[in-house]
Amino acid sequence: MKAIQITHTQELNIIDIEKPQTPGQGEVLLKLSYVGFCGSDINTFMGRNTMALNPVIPGHEVGAVIEAVGAGVPENLKKGMVVTCNPYTNCGNCPSCRNRRVNACQHNETLGVQRNGAMMEYITLPWEKVIPAGSLAPKVCALVEPMSVGFHAVSRAEVTDIDVVMVIGCGMVGMGAIVRSALRGATVIAADIDDEKLALAKKMGAAYAINTKTEDAHQRLQELTNGCGPDVVIEAVGSVPTYQMAINEVAFTGRVACIGYAKSEVSLQTKYFVQKELDIRGSRNALPSDFRAVIHYLETNDCPIDTLITKVIKPEEAFNTMRWWSENPGKVFRILVNFED
Ligand SMILES: [Zn+2]
Ligand SMILES: [Zn+2]
Repeated sequence: MKAIQITHTQELNIIDIEKPQTPGQGEVLLKLSYVGFCGSDINTFMGRNTMALNPVIPGHEVGAVIEAVGAGVPENLKKGMVVTCNPYTNCGNCPSCRNRRVNACQHNETLGVQRNGAMMEYITLPWEKVIPAGSLAPKVCALVEPMSVGFHAVSRAEVTDIDVVMVIGCGMVGMGAIVRSALRGATVIAADIDDEKLALAKKMGAAYAINTKTEDAHQRLQELTNGCGPDVVIEAVGSVPTYQMAINEVAFTGRVACIGYAKSEVSLQTKYFVQKELDIRGSRNALPSDFRAVIHYLETNDCPIDTLITKVIKPEEAFNTMRWWSENPGKVFRILVNFED
C-alpha cells in the first residue's frame, strides 16, 4: 500500500509498504480517507522539527472508516463507522499521566512526529485511540484534532461568558480557541497579520479583529477593553513578539494560555507576572473531552469547512504542495491528502 514519507529535509517520497494484517487483540484497522498536513509536518519537511523521527511517515489529523475490529474491542466500534483518532500516546506512569492529564504525557509520542503517522492507506491503532465521529464526513474529521488543541487551551484558561479573550494567531488551532471561547459566551478579539484569516475569524465567532502588522494593537486593545486589556490571552503562534504581546497586554489578574511552540528563547517582562498576579498556563495537545466537544460543534454548527480546507490533494501531489506551502506559509489553513482511491 501507498504511504507518504518525509525522507530527508525537503525530500518527500511515496513509498510502498506492507498493508497491516487483520487487527490483533484490542486493535482497530482503519482505512484512511483524508489525512491533514499540519504546521508540524511542514516543519519536519523543512528540517526544523527537532522532535521528529527521520525518516518519518507524517500525519496525525485523521478522517477514516473502520475496516475491521480485533478481539476485545468494545461493541460501539463497528466496521463501516466514520472515525477520527487521538494521535497521542500516554505512558500511564509519569506525573502528567498520574494526574490524569494524559495530553501532556512526559513521554508522549504523537503519530507522524515521534513515531510513524497516518499518511497511508491503512493503519491499525489501539481501540482507545479511535474516536467515533458521529455524523461527520471523513473529510471534516481531519479538522477535529487541530481544532481540539485550540479547544483545550480555552479549558486551560477557564474562559467564561464575562471574559474578553484575545486569541493571537488565527491558524487552525487559533480558530479552535476562537470558536470555543465564543461558544462559552466570551467576547473574542482575534489577532493575526493576515486580513483573510481575520475575516474568517469573525465568521467563526470573533467580535473584533486586529491586524497586528498594520494596526497599533495596544491602542486597539485599550479601546476595546476600557483601558483594562483582555482578561484572557491565548497565544497560538509561538514567536517572540507574540509571547511578549500576551504578557504585556493581558489585564491585571488575567490568564495567559500558551499553545505556540517557540523555537527560541523569549525575553519577558517578568515584573508583570508579579504586578498583574498572572496565571500563565501551558496548553499541550488535547484531552478526549476536547475531541468530543469539537465533534459536537462541527455536527451542530455551520462551520465554514470549505474555507478551512485550503486544498485537497492526491498523495502524488504531496511533494510539490509542501514546497508551495513552505513558500506561502501564511496562506494555508489545512491541506488534506485524499487516500480514498
Ligand atoms: Zn497537528
Ligand atoms: Zn505519561
